[in-house]
Order: sequence, then structure tokens, then C-alpha cells
Amino acid sequence: MSLIVQKYGGSSVADATAIKRVAKRIAEAKRAGDDVVVVVSAMGDTTDELLELANEISPLPPLREMDILLTAGERISMSLLAMAIANLGVEAQSFTGQQAGVITDDVHGRARIIDVKASRIRQALDSGAVAIVAGFQGVTEHTNDVTTLGRGGSDTTAVAIAAAIGADVCEIYTDVDGVFTADPRIVPSARKIDRISYEEMLDMAASGAKVLMLRCVEYARRNGVRIHVRSSFSGREGTLVTDEHADAQEEGQMEQPIISGVAHDRTEAKVTVVGVPDVPGTAAQIFEVVAGADVNIDMIVQNVSAASTGLTDISFTLPATDGQKATAALQAVQGSIGFDSLQYDDTIGKLSLVGAGMKSHPGISAKLFGALRDAGINIEMISTSEIRVSVITRSDQLDDAVRAVHTAFDLDSSDGEAVVYGGTGR
Ligand code: ADP
Ligand code: ASP
Ligand code: MG
Repeated sequence: MSLIVQKYGGSSVADATAIKRVAKRIAEAKRAGDDVVVVVSAMGDTTDELLELANEISPLPPLREMDILLTAGERISMSLLAMAIANLGVEAQSFTGQQAGVITDDVHGRARIIDVKASRIRQALDSGAVAIVAGFQGVTEHTNDVTTLGRGGSDTTAVAIAAAIGADVCEIYTDVDGVFTADPRIVPSARKIDRISYEEMLDMAASGAKVLMLRCVEYARRNGVRIHVRSSFSGREGTLVTDEHADAQEEGQMEQPIISGVAHDRTEAKVTVVGVPDVPGTAAQIFEVVAGADVNIDMIVQNVSAASTGLTDISFTLPATDGQKATAALQAVQGSIGFDSLQYDDTIGKLSLVGAGMKSHPGISAKLFGALRDAGINIEMISTSEIRVSVITRSDQLDDAVRAVHTAFDLDSSDGEAVVYGGTGR
């Protein structure tokens, strides 16, 4: 008998038929003798639809109210799923994040889980029921305000609950068969990865591979939670995210792949501060202002200054959702910093090549740039780390770039196309 956490994403519970199908899967696990906790996302694109609705009401809705609104999506799916399971003769009880004891900090819209008081979940399991928990939500410790964990946050709910109850595995059920060498929606020849280390998965997730939320991978690594990413639409084995991968390599059982995959991200924008005085302290001033607006930045490029003017340009990328905040903050200090103008561009895309083995292999960047040249794609910015090379391209060229790089690094599968079972890719 095992203790299992199963998380079902929005596309797995998109309508009544899908909810009944998932309920069957859960009932089977329960009947096989396992104790099952289920974490569920909002149905289909409900979260996006609620966001759009709020934006029709107000351009900048209060974050506290936004969180209460968005948590409604997961409440709908959790109760419907509990009903569907009960219909199959298996007892099920659903819980909101608050009822399930998911305690967070008070940062609305991207709260962090600080504790899971799982007594209510344990009681449900002890009574023989399946516990269904609404993903993506929690409650603050002192004020009892409802919070959400950021997009894709149900993954993190699932891992946090798995850690709290000491589950044997956290199964993340989605609309593809696991983690692939690239998004199967863009690269049908992408290959399923059977095992991936936390470190490589962290870099894939941080680079935009939204199949797992970044924070969920961080949480799993810190707490040693084994994650199994798989499809709710098939019975295939998926991808195991664990340190055993690294252990197996150390024991010489598995050769470390040089490249784990190609990730892409279309959610960033680029700000260019034009005509910045090239003197000590201006970069600090600019980025202090951006940080003061509570905006995280990603890549930075500073051009060589023109000797005749002593002025330079600084470009950086940031989440497009923070674009307005950052440019408004910078405009307010244009006079005191003394730059010429600001340019804002949200039609960029980011491609990242990720692989723990690349640190000991020269020529990876050269090969990447060569593949983009051959595909006629211009590179606008570059950044590298030990195990990642990222480039910025035009957004409408990003898909072609991902396919070209995937092929250049011999990642294409020889045995058939990757299946996308559902979802809209939003
Ligand atoms: P869910 O609703 O189940 O949480 P998500 O849409 O958040 O599903 O994540 C699954 C999607 O992630 C897939 O449909 C796929 O388009 C996308 N994806 C991006 N990169 C990858 C990758 N490397 N491997 C698998 N899926 C990926
Ligand atoms: N429903 C939330 C979202 O769409 C959380 C999740 O699906 O994980 O981001
Ligand atoms: Mg998701």
C-alpha cells in the first residue's frame, strides 16, 4: 500500500466528461489499496477567463480581491470531482486550501507556502476517504486572507502536500506524456525524458517549460519529493524527477546527457534605456528603481558607449505583466538619471538550451548560434550560465528557432510523434 498525491491540471478536468474520466482513475488507485490525496486545478482555461473578466471591470484590480476571485476556479473543480468519485462508490471529501492547512506568506498573486498543517487531510485518509484539495491557493497565517501561488501553482500545492504527509510519490497528471526535450506543441518530434535531475528540471522550468512550475521543483528538491509527470489521458510511464538520476550517473549506470532540452518563453518583454550617461553608478540607479517597483529582471545587456557622446544603452528583460510598472517607475526618474528615452518591446521570445553536461563540452554556444544563422533567425540578446544558454529572438520566429536548435543538437525522436492529448496551450 502506498501513499500517493495525484495532481490533475486544468486540461485533465476541462469538462464533465473529463472529470468523470479522472474520477475513475482515482477510484482505481483507491480500490488498489493506496491512500490517495488529489490536488486539482481549475477546469480548462477558467483562470484565464476569470482574469479577463476582472480586467473588464477594472484595469488594476486590488490584488486581495483578485486572489479571492481566482480561487473560485479550483473550488468548482474540487467539489465536482468529489461528487464524481462518490458516484463511483468511493468516499471523497474536498477541501479548500485554507481547510487543507496550506499556510502562505501575504504576497497576493504569488504567495509562497510556508507551512502545511495537514491534520484535516490525514483525518480524511484515516476515515478511508480520498482527500481532494483545491490547488493554487492558501491562506495567510495571521490575517486569514486568501492567497494564490502564481500561475501553475497547483503543482506547488501538490508537492507541498506530498512533503507534509510523507507521500511515496507526487504524480503530476497533465495533457502530455511527461517532460520532453522541447514543448511537444511546437516540436512534434520531441523525445520523452524518462528521468531528469532536479537541477536540470529547475533550469527547464526557469526557462519557460511550464509543464512543471519552477517553485514546485525547488520545493521538491529541498524536501526530497519524487515527482512523476505523466498524462491523465494514457497509461504510459512518464518522467521521473529525482536525484536518483544523478546517483545513477555517479555509479556509472547512466551517461549524463550533454543537453536535456530546449525551452522557450513568450512571457517576457524588453526595456531599453537609451542614452544613459556612461559613468559609475547609473546601472545601480536604474536597477534600484526597477527593484523598488518590485519587478524581477532576467537578462541585461549594456552596449559599448560611443566615445563621442559618453552615452550608452542598457537593455533588460522582465515579465511582460510587470512592463507597465517598470516603465512608469523609470519614467519618473528620467530627469535625475539623465537618460534620453525608454523603448518597450513585448514582441520578443526567449529560447534556452539546457543541459548539465554542457559545462564540460566546448562549442555548445557556437553550435546554437550556427543553427539559428542557418534558419535565418537574428539574435537580439544572449546570456549564459554553466548549464544554460539563452537567446532573445523575435516572438514570431521563436517556434522556428526552437525546432532548428532541437534538430541541430540531435534531440529529435526517431520513434514517432509526441502526443498532445488536450489543452489549448494557453
Ligand atoms: P496543466 O494544465 O496540466 O497544469 P500545463 O499547460 O501547465 O498543464 O503544462 C503542460 C504543457 O506544458 C504541455 O501541454 C506543453 O505544451 C507544455 N510544455 C512546455 N514545455 C514542455 C516540455 N519540455 N515537456 C512537456 N511539456 C511542455
Ligand atoms: N489554475 C491556476 C492557473 O491556471 C493554477 C494551476 O493550474 O496550476 O495558473
Ligand atoms: Mg500547469
